[in-house]
Amino acid sequence: MMDKECAAIERLRVGAEMSETYYEQPLIITTSGGKDSDVCLHLAQAAGINYEVQHNHTTADAPETVRHVRETFRKLEEKEIKCTINWPTYKGQPVTMWSLIPQKLMPPTRVVRYCCDVLKEQGGKNRMICTGVRWAESTARKNNRAAFERLHRDREKRMLLSDNDDKRRLFENCQLKAKRVVNPIIDWTDEDVWAYIESEHIQMNPLYCEGQHRVGCIGCPVAGRKGRELEFARWPTYKGAYIRAFDRMIEGRKARGLETEWQTGTDAFDWWMGYDVLPGQMDFDEVMNDG
Ligand code: SF4
Repeated sequence: MMDKECAAIERLRVGAEMSETYYEQPLIITTSGGKDSDVCLHLAQAAGINYEVQHNHTTADAPETVRHVRETFRKLEEKEIKCTINWPTYKGQPVTMWSLIPQKLMPPTRVVRYCCDVLKEQGGKNRMICTGVRWAESTARKNNRAAFERLHRDREKRMLLSDNDDKRRLFENCQLKAKRVVNPIIDWTDEDVWAYIESEHIQMNPLYCEGQHRVGCIGCPVAGRKGRELEFARWPTYKGAYIRAFDRMIEGRKARGLETEWQTGTDAFDWWMGYDVLPGQMDFDEVMNDG
C-alpha cells in the first residue's frame, strides 16, 4: 500500500509540474463527491502541491452527494484552496438532466451518453486535471486509461502514458492545447482505496454507509438494473422527474413528426430500465402465456 501511495503522490507532483509548465496554472483536482475523488484530494494535500478543485454539478446527483461536496469545499476553502462548482449549460443556456432529455429527443443510454458530455465533462478545458479513475472499475478502463493522458477529439492525437514512459518528452513537448489528465490512483484496487480511507480517517460521502457501492447520477443508464431500481426506490422524486422529462421528450418527438413507439413517459421509462415493454408487446406475451 505504501508503494502505491508514494507512486500516486509522485504522479500528482509530476501532474502539478506539467500544469504549471504548459498552462501556467495550478492542477485542477476534479471531484464527483465519491470516494475515489476524496482519496485524490487527500493525496494532493499530502503531496504538498499547488492545486485547485472543481466539481461538475450534474443535477442528477443525490442530495447527500451535493451536501457532501459543499461540506468538502467549505473545509478546503478554509485552507484557502480555490474551489469551483461548474453549473451545466447547453447551447449557451443553463440546463438540467430533465431539461436536456426533451432537447435531445431520446433518453440517454449506455451507448449514447450525451448527458456525460453536457453535465459531467464540462470545465477544465485546456487545463491539466486530476481524476480518480481506476483500472479496477471496468475492463474498458483497463484498456484505454493510463496514469497520464492527453485528450483530443481527434483519436490520433490522443496519447496515453504510464509512469517513466519513453514517450513522456513527446507528451511534454507537444504544443497542442489539449486537456491533459493525471490519474494518480489508476492502479489502486477497491481494497487499496478502502484501506487508505480508513488509515487516513477520510470523511466519506454518507451514502457509502448505507451500503451504496457507487455514488453518481441517480438512474445512470451505465449502471446495472438492480442498482438503478434501488436508487429509484430510495429517491422516488428522481423517478418522477425522469418520467416527466420523457413525457416532454415524446411531445417534442411528435411535434417534429418523429416516429415514437412510446405513448407515455412511463412507457419510455420502462424501456429505459430494460423492461423492454413496448405497447402491444404486453398483449402478445399475455396471449402466449394463455396459450
Ligand atoms: S447519468 Fe451516467 S451517463 Fe449520464 S451524466 Fe450521469 S454518469 Fe454520465
